[in-house]
Amino acid sequence: MFCNHCGKNIQEDANVCAYCGSSVGYRAVPRRLTRPRDGRKIAGVCAGFANYFNLDSTLVRLVWLVVVIFGGTGLLAYIIGWIVMPEEPLPLVAPAARSSAPPTGYAVTNP
Ligand SMILES: [Zn+2]
Repeated sequence: MFCNHCGKNIQEDANVCAYCGSSVGYRAVPRRLTRPRDGRKIAGVCAGFANYFNLDSTLVRLVWLVVVIFGGTGLLAYIIGWIVMPEEPLPLVAPAARSSAPPTGYAVTNP
């Protein structure tokens, strides 16, 4: 990796350049091979590979199908991918809006 500021070769996982001290930030979030929840046909293995490699999922499915038909190991690879690849995490959903009404069950009864 090279420092964008001084152009010297620096450590690959460095956040700050050791020569000029400038931040070389921009740490890309590591991509994960996951099975997406949307756009899957069977288990999302092909769609996951397509997302990972920035390919068209239809193209991946076609190639995979050819491998299944002619190669023989494609089906096994698909099943292994199904087992090994984690499902895409659920999208974060904002908690349901709580009503401002007081909770029920607090009926105060004064004798
Ligand atoms: Zn530098």
